[in-house]
Amino acid sequence: LPEEASVVIVGGGIAGCSLAYQLCALGVEGVVLLEQNQVGGGTTWHAAGAVGRMRTTATLARLNDRSAALYARMEAESGLATGWMKAGSLTIARQPERMIQLRRAGSMAGRFGVDVDEVGPDEIRARLPMAQLEDVIGGVWLADDGIVDPPALAQAIAEAARRLGALVVEGARVTELMENAGRVTGVRTPDAAIRAQTVVLCCGMWTRQFAATIGFDVPLQPVEHHYVLSRSVGEDITTLPVTRDPDASIYFRGKGDALLLGAFQRVSKPWLVDRVPDDFSFRLLEPDWEHFAVPLDEGLRRLPALQELGIERFVNGPESFTPDGNPLVGEMPEMPGLYICAAFNSSGLAYAGGVAEALAQWIVGKEPPFDLWPVDVRRFSSRQSDLDYLRNRSVEVLGTHMRMAYPNVEFEMGRNLRGTPLYDELAARGASFGEKHGLERPNWFARPGQRPVIEYSFGRQNWFDNTRAEHIAARTTAAVFDQSGFAKYRVSGPDAVSVLQRACANEVDVNLGGVVYTAMLTARGTFASDLTVMRTGATEYLVVSGTAQAVADRGWLRRFVNSATNVRIEDVTDEYAVLGIMGPNSREILQSLTDTDLSNEAFPFATTDIVTLGHTQVRAIRLTYVGELGWELHIPRDEAVSLYRAVLGTGEPYGLVNGGHYAINSLRLEKGYRAWGADITMSDTPLEAGLGFAVAWDKPTPFYGRDALLEQRDGSGPRKRMVSLVLDDPEPVLWGGELVYRDGVRAGHTTSGAYGYTLGASVALAWLDVSDAPLTSATVEAAAYEVDVAGERAPAKASLASPFDPQRSRVLC
Ligand SMILES: Cc1cc2nc3c(=O)[nH]c(=O)nc-3n(C[C@H](O)[C@H](O)[C@H](O)COP(=O)(O)OP(=O)(O)OC[C@H]3O[C@@H](n4cnc5c(N)ncnc54)[C@H](O)[C@@H]3O)c2cc1C
Repeated sequence: LPEEASVVIVGGGIAGCSLAYQLCALGVEGVVLLEQNQVGGGTTWHAAGAVGRMRTTATLARLNDRSAALYARMEAESGLATGWMKAGSLTIARQPERMIQLRRAGSMAGRFGVDVDEVGPDEIRARLPMAQLEDVIGGVWLADDGIVDPPALAQAIAEAARRLGALVVEGARVTELMENAGRVTGVRTPDAAIRAQTVVLCCGMWTRQFAATIGFDVPLQPVEHHYVLSRSVGEDITTLPVTRDPDASIYFRGKGDALLLGAFQRVSKPWLVDRVPDDFSFRLLEPDWEHFAVPLDEGLRRLPALQELGIERFVNGPESFTPDGNPLVGEMPEMPGLYICAAFNSSGLAYAGGVAEALAQWIVGKEPPFDLWPVDVRRFSSRQSDLDYLRNRSVEVLGTHMRMAYPNVEFEMGRNLRGTPLYDELAARGASFGEKHGLERPNWFARPGQRPVIEYSFGRQNWFDNTRAEHIAARTTAAVFDQSGFAKYRVSGPDAVSVLQRACANEVDVNLGGVVYTAMLTARGTFASDLTVMRTGATEYLVVSGTAQAVADRGWLRRFVNSATNVRIEDVTDEYAVLGIMGPNSREILQSLTDTDLSNEAFPFATTDIVTLGHTQVRAIRLTYVGELGWELHIPRDEAVSLYRAVLGTGEPYGLVNGGHYAINSLRLEKGYRAWGADITMSDTPLEAGLGFAVAWDKPTPFYGRDALLEQRDGSGPRKRMVSLVLDDPEPVLWGGELVYRDGVRAGHTTSGAYGYTLGASVALAWLDVSDAPLTSATVEAAAYEVDVAGERAPAKASLASPFDPQRSRVLC
């Protein structure tokens, strides 16, 4: 082994091999891959070999599509067989709701370059002559989906990487990670030490225990995953399409002369092993016929030939799962130089090639090359690595591959990991909670006698009228929202101003009490985050961002700190609860609790001050995410309940009601307020998003990302624009993830949507491609729009400006 490498990759499964190849393809020299056993002998060895590409977000679709592109050329590049074949894939539906889901997913996949054709029962029968399909009402066909021989593919990619200069070593177990002053410096094997500035853990289900050796908890849990292989059908049936039958939680394909029948059971079994054995290579767990009984029955019904053939082999392979079913990719925020690329949730072949390509660019460019948030390791809080939580949650995650992908669907297992200080109060008042970043947040409030449980559908769900009441209260009287999940940082010290000036695109060197909406940008000028920065002292700021952004923002801010910088960044998220009191009556309600003058003159919009409400001192911030007069109150955690009760008691005569996050979503979309992660991401710039007003181009300290943004402003201009859409028809419900047509041509997609109760129709934010001329208010409004609602086109109006109160008269009063 060499004494030094530029990048050490630990693990030679499909992920590690793909990464070695992609790094070398970018010209990186000195790439070393260490595999404790044999390349492709881990989970990759027993994968079923399907490379599917139907995903509903741009990021996931792109990653899967790039995998297929890589695998397709590996045989030629390596000279080794990979088993790659475009067998195509079918997903079949037994019920109308499933067709809605497939149409929704298919149209979005199409937007991101993956061809999806809707097919009827006759075409399905023609493609699956051996299947019994009486109950099938339709499906979708992806002609370009492929299959591979997984371990052969891993070996071929490893060979292709070797040809490009990588050193791939088998039988080399990494036993230790070396670090110095919080930075990774290399690895040790039993025989050697290799110095390296970059180490990537591609250790599959071993990643958790290995990262734990240096004190990191990685949120992944091995889960048993099952398929069976039939005895020979007497001919090669490899060309049979990979067929998914989600209503039965099964899939099947041809593997040589055998039928492969696999399952994504709704309830699955975490592998409760204390430590994954180091030598778990080319090995399986014991067959579990009992757990496979229901899928087997379904399979026997769907494929009657199986009854005659019988089963030759039961494959029970462990695979790692995360709390949300997406992989873990990216740099560990607490340890620069240490990256993770693992936990592929039974889609590792579909993902690895594309993920490795993106991660290689991330490693070389030192930041994600495009929006990778859905797979970014920083999207989880440290609490979500708790073993009990992971084991509980993992019972459900495998099944999500096939359960109905309803909008806003919540996990049922592994809940109540943590709540806000107001959890019990809100639960007693009928709150229906949803989980974000491991935190329980109120989504809506049930009426007395109504169960606070969501009844899912693609249309109006059972909370539609509850949210309407909360929304209308915020617009006409007042509503109180528990927004305690906000990520909160205190940034202080002599260099606080200069660090934030460099990190933030807007001017943050403002007067004491000033509140600034700003972005932190990547070098490409895209959103690393958006946040609110408040000046709370000469050298002190309070920085607030979205619930899920906590870990990512902390890591990003640290990029602007070095040993010579005198600044402290403290996470104070859990020290304060946050109540948003929003609506035209909010001033009167709060004024009755304080002597501080809350008039517009004394306490204008975008300012903050310490205020005593009753007996409690809070930081009051005149700000709104719902487009109404209102204050966000940061309350010491222990005093949150008493103040909440006081506000509620005082507010009731003024029409104050509890409101949940669904109401916030509907209110903010009417105002066109963007949400980071959903609407604006690391793939989008402020100019594209219409947020150029929050960029201080000429402040004394140039902000990070300015050069790229200037180039866009003064060069070719944005290639896409964010618009608000309002449907003409008051009936359909938009959720986000719908295709948009402009003048009859496919031209964009919605990023989030909700029913706008004030507007009386669904409202959404959407990206529109810029074709020939730049998009101005006039050209946007002149065109005709339609939104694809599960195959039906709903006419809509588009605008660059907010559809509700564009003059902000309700906010600045
Ligand atoms: C039954 C089953 C069917 C599946 N079917 C499909 C499918 O059809 N399509 C699909 O896309 N996905 C499928 N998957 C998922 C897919 O197999 C995995 O997601 C993928 O193989 C994971 O690859 P990996 O490289 O992350 O992990 P692995 O293949 O497990 O590789 C990790 C490697 O790291 C090595 N390692 C660990 N620790 C160390 C160390 N300290 N030092 C050196 N080396 C180390 C291990 O030996 C191992 O070789 C399936 C999974 C299962 C269980």
